[in-house]
Amino acid sequence: VHSKGAIWRCQILILNIIYLMQNLKSKHYKKNILVIHSNLASSCKQFLINQKQCNHNMNFLIMGPPGAGKGTQAKILAEKYNFMHLSTGDMLRHEIDNKSDIGLEAKNYMNQGFLVPDDVLLSIMENTLTSLKGIGIILDGFPRTIPQAEGLEAIFQKLDLQIDYVINVHVDEDILINRLTNRAKNSGRSDDAEEVIINRQKVYSELTEPLIQFYKDQLLTINGDGTVEEVTQRILEKIQ
Ligand code: ADP
Repeated sequence: VHSKGAIWRCQILILNIIYLMQNLKSKHYKKNILVIHSNLASSCKQFLINQKQCNHNMNFLIMGPPGAGKGTQAKILAEKYNFMHLSTGDMLRHEIDNKSDIGLEAKNYMNQGFLVPDDVLLSIMENTLTSLKGIGIILDGFPRTIPQAEGLEAIFQKLDLQIDYVINVHVDEDILINRLTNRAKNSGRSDDAEEVIINRQKVYSELTEPLIQFYKDQLLTINGDGTVEEVTQRILEKIQ
């Protein structure tokens, strides 16, 4: 396996096997998905350790309003530092595509621009993080509320882990709405309709923005207005 693509391939492997297992439609459908998710994450972790391609020491968290470009930057950082990139938005969209119970529940919230309930996210993340213990991760889109952040703290404490950097990608709201409206033309994402975009910004201000205060001692705020490369450069300057 070529080093650059290893983490990415591993993620694809996990998603494919989850998809296959979901098709088995077991009795304990919802529970099994999470268990399978963890088992696969363990195999994936072992694979990365064997390949000596994982970063064992650091955990990043990247946050920012919808449209700030945090997902793009998270992918770049994951590649650069050999982290596992965990995007809760991608994980949930995958569940929706596969029509799993979690996906069916999440869909209604996501399509309207609301957050999926905290207990669903915390359960998914506890399993995933426990299984991935020992390899560096970058969390993208989680936590998104104070209860999620508190839950994450408890999970990390249990696992004897810590968050090393919290990156906050800041972009002014008018620029964000513009970006998202343009993205809507190409993305095909059902949560990119105009009223949903506005609702997502509102939900962000009410529920996610308070995390800036929650993480104030660790927060690295980055200006997200610029090209992808410029923003990456600003992040690297702060963390190196
Ligand atoms: P964006 O950052 O552009 O909103 P994401 O892909 O991160 O895009 O998230 C898309 C949607 O997935 C969110 O609007 C929300 O409905 C759901 N979602 C993702 N992460 C979480 C989370 N941690 N808690 C609750 N809902 C989430």
